[in-house]
Amino acid sequence: MLLTISTTYSPATDLGYLLYKHPERIQSFKLPYGQAHVFYPEARAERCTAALLLDVDTVGLTRRPQGRSGENFPLAPYVSDRPYVASSFLSVAIAKVFSSALSGKSKERPELAETAIPLKAKLSILPCQGGEELLRRLFEPLGYKITVEGHILDARFSDWGESRYFTVTLQNTCRLSELLTHLYVLIPVLDDEKHYWVDEAEIEKLLKHGKNWLAAHPEQESIVSRYLKHLRLLTDQALAELCETDPQQTDETIQGQEEAKVEARSNLNEIRLQTVTDVLKKCGAKRVLDLGCGDGKLLHKLLREQQFEEIVGMDVSHHALKTAQESLHYKQLPDRQKERLRLFQGSLNYRDKRLAGYDAAAVIEVIEHFDLPRLAAFERVLFEFARPQTIVLTTPNIEYNVKFENLQAGNLRHKDHRFEWTRDEFHSWTNRISERFGYAVVFHPIGSTTEDVGAPTQMAVFTREGRKDEIT
Ligand code: SAH
Repeated sequence: MLLTISTTYSPATDLGYLLYKHPERIQSFKLPYGQAHVFYPEARAERCTAALLLDVDTVGLTRRPQGRSGENFPLAPYVSDRPYVASSFLSVAIAKVFSSALSGKSKERPELAETAIPLKAKLSILPCQGGEELLRRLFEPLGYKITVEGHILDARFSDWGESRYFTVTLQNTCRLSELLTHLYVLIPVLDDEKHYWVDEAEIEKLLKHGKNWLAAHPEQESIVSRYLKHLRLLTDQALAELCETDPQQTDETIQGQEEAKVEARSNLNEIRLQTVTDVLKKCGAKRVLDLGCGDGKLLHKLLREQQFEEIVGMDVSHHALKTAQESLHYKQLPDRQKERLRLFQGSLNYRDKRLAGYDAAAVIEVIEHFDLPRLAAFERVLFEFARPQTIVLTTPNIEYNVKFENLQAGNLRHKDHRFEWTRDEFHSWTNRISERFGYAVVFHPIGSTTEDVGAPTQMAVFTREGRKDEIT
C-alpha cells in the first residue's frame, strides 16, 4: 500500500521540513501490524514527492483476534485485502510517522506549515464502499480536485464487474496538516471497516482531527457514523459535540452576553425568565426541563420555587453547563436542593430518552441557534418523543430589532442566530407544529409592546391535547 504526497511549492524539497523526514534518507518505522517506510522518489526544487509505503505483516494479521468476518468465514484472515489497501492501518501509520505534520507543527518551517501550498496525494488502492460518487461527495466539498480510476474485480473475468477498489489522486492548495487530517479521517470512512475496537476515545480523535472542517461538511453525518462504525450512541454523541465545536457555534455563554448587551436596557432577560417561571408554576408542573439552559439563570429561579420537585438543565455546550454549575454553586447546595437539580449534556437535534416523562419543558431563546434544516429534527425530539404536557418556547421577534439603539439595522441580535422570525413567521410555525403533534398553543408577547412592531420577545405556550382522555 503506497501513499505519495507531492508539492510544486518552491523550493519543493521544503516538504522534508514539514514531514520531519529528510529527502535523502529512507526511514523505517515499526508498527503493531507491520512496517512503514518513508522515502522520496523525487526531490527537486520544482517538485518533490514523499512516499509512505505500508508493509503489513500478513502472517501477523492472521494471528490477530478476528472480528465478525472471521467468525463467518474461517479463511477470512488468509484471504484479506488488508495488507494491500488504504485502511485504518494507514491512518494509524500517518498518525505515527507524520505526527508533527498532522498537527501542523514544523520546527524548521513554522510559517510554511501554516501556509496553503499546492499538494497532490495519490493512494495506490483505496477501498470505497459507496463508489466514486461517495469519494467525490467526501473530498470535493473540502476543495479537492479528484481523479478516480476504478478497478474491475478480476481482469480475466470481466463479467465479474467493478470492484470497490480505486486508485485516487487528490489535488488541493491547502496546508499539509489539512491534507493529512482529511486522509486520516476519511480513509477509514471510505473503507467502512476498522481494525480495532471503537469506543469513546474514537470520538475524541475524530473531534480533534475534524474540528476545523467536519462541522461544515455536508456529509457530516455519514462521515461520523462510518467513522464510529455505525454505533448509534457514539455517533449521536459525536454529532452533538461537533455542533458545539462548530466555530460558528462555540462559546454560547459569551455570545449570550453579547445578546444581553443588545437587550440590556430593557432588562428583558429578567422579565422573560420571570414570565416563563410564572407560566411553569401556573400549569402545575412538578418535573421540568430547561432545554438549552445556557448559564442557568432560569434554573436558578426554578430552584427557588418549591413546587418544582425535579429540575433538569440540558445544553449542548459543556462550557455553558460548567458555567451553570458554578453560578448555581451546585457543589455547595444542601443535599435536598442538589437532589432536585440535574444537569446534563445533550443535543436537541437528537432523540434522547432522558427527556421523556416530564410535565413541562422550557426552550428559551434556543431555536434561533439551530440551522433551519435542523428544526424539523428538534420538533420531533421535543413534541413527538419527549412530549411533555406543557412546552414554553421563546424566540426573538425580528420586527422589534429596529427599536434597539445599539443594534445595526439589518443585523440579528446575536451573531450565532441563524434566523429571527417576524410574528407572522413564528405564528405559522407554531400553528403548524401544534396541529401536527396535537398541542394547543397560546401566544404571549414579552417585554414592552409597541403598536407597530410588537414586543421584543415572542413566547408560545403549548399544551398537549387529549390529557383527560389519556388519564381515563
Ligand atoms: N435558555 C438560556 C440560554 C439561551 S442561549 C437563556 O435563556 O438564558 C442558547 C443556548 O442554547 C446555548 O446555551 C446553547 O449552547 C444552547 N443550544 C444551542 N444549540 C443546541 C442544541 N442543539 N441542543 C441543546 N442546546 C443547544
